[in-house]
Amino acid sequence: MTAEEIKKMAIIGAGDMGHGIAEICALAGLNVHLFDIKQEFVARGQQRIKESLDKQVAKQKLAGDAAAAAMGRIQGFTSLTDAVKDVDFMIEAAPEILDLKIKIFQEADANAPGHAILASNTSNMSITEMGAVTQRPDKVLGIHFFNPVMLMLLVEVIRGAGTSEETMKTSYELIQRLKNFRGAMVPVRVEKDTPGFIYNRLGAPIGLYMAELYEKGLVIPEALDAKVRAIGAPMGPYEIMDFTGLDVNLHGNEYFAKTLSPEFEPRTWMKKMVAEGHLGKKSGKGIYEWPQGNRPTIDMSKADPQFDVMDIICLQANEGTKLLEAGVTRSAAEIDKAVINGGGAAFGPFALAQGMGWPKVAEQCEAISKRLRIKWFMPTETLRQGKIEMG
Ligand code: NAD
Repeated sequence: MTAEEIKKMAIIGAGDMGHGIAEICALAGLNVHLFDIKQEFVARGQQRIKESLDKQVAKQKLAGDAAAAAMGRIQGFTSLTDAVKDVDFMIEAAPEILDLKIKIFQEADANAPGHAILASNTSNMSITEMGAVTQRPDKVLGIHFFNPVMLMLLVEVIRGAGTSEETMKTSYELIQRLKNFRGAMVPVRVEKDTPGFIYNRLGAPIGLYMAELYEKGLVIPEALDAKVRAIGAPMGPYEIMDFTGLDVNLHGNEYFAKTLSPEFEPRTWMKKMVAEGHLGKKSGKGIYEWPQGNRPTIDMSKADPQFDVMDIICLQANEGTKLLEAGVTRSAAEIDKAVINGGGAAFGPFALAQGMGWPKVAEQCEAISKRLRIKWFMPTETLRQGKIEMG
């Protein structure tokens, strides 16, 4: 099946991600079957799509009839069997529970047409395991959108152990047909089912570094964030942690502790804040205060002169070389593309670190590793030898 032949989609789960995925597909002219386990959840998803489209119409960014036509392409379902019966492509966006996803894939496989591709929007779960419970592992893959779907451009297209090249190619081209309110979606191929895929994996060492600096009392978050913002970043790393939610960060660290290294175990300060309900923006307090959900005021005059922003870039580039060594992606440029489009940075870590010279980047990673006694930060052989294909 080619991407142009895809006419009908099933979106499974109408929550934060599912309603956004349904919206973007309907805007691209695709017919959408939106499934959830209860009618009220389907209706809530449809209502959220309507509100989002209405806002664009009010801002004169979308024609009223285009919004109405998109809404008209979305049909609600509470039977999974019926939702997938005659579709070309399914994207599952149900809760992040493997058993639940496995059940959905089994039922979808039994009821969807033989040619249909079955995708999961999972952030962490194994695409290979989902494919293995179907009779069509060659047509199962990961399609990882970012939140909110209508504003974030990156979409990771993830190959499971059984995924065919045709499925990768068709899915990549399908994503190229989609546009959100910021512009055309940017697909990036992930050639191996690996923890954190590309974007979240590049964030992993930064999360660990920031958590450890804070744990050891080596940093004042506001001073470090001010320094990072002084070079043009829209938010510093501690503000980002609060913004995403300390609970989400904690789960991410637990997941990486299990899959990458025990060094990622959540630090005491983070566990304590989460246990006390200080989750960041959503609870009004975390590392910072968020009065009525408003951003904290960062005093830029407090920027820490000691902190070297290149630490962040070097650690990210080093992590990227691990993905290159494992064959998760074919070029450093793809990694940069993922970082730029997933987070809104102007440049990716490889483009930024290249100017330092790879031996210096490796030295900086080694120095951080020794100072904090975290082995994960040690430079890879690829980085030490500067064998980096920019692509
Ligand atoms: P959510 O809780 O907002 O939505 C999940 C929806 O699935 C709910 O509407 C729920 O009623 C429905 N549901 C429950 N049981 C179901 C079942 N058996 N079958 C089908 N639907 C069922 O969650 P979300 O944030 O939209 O996350 C969905 C998926 O997307 C997860 O795998 C998550 O890891 C992934 N993801 C989330 C984000 C994010 O930032 N929220 C980003 C990328 C990926």
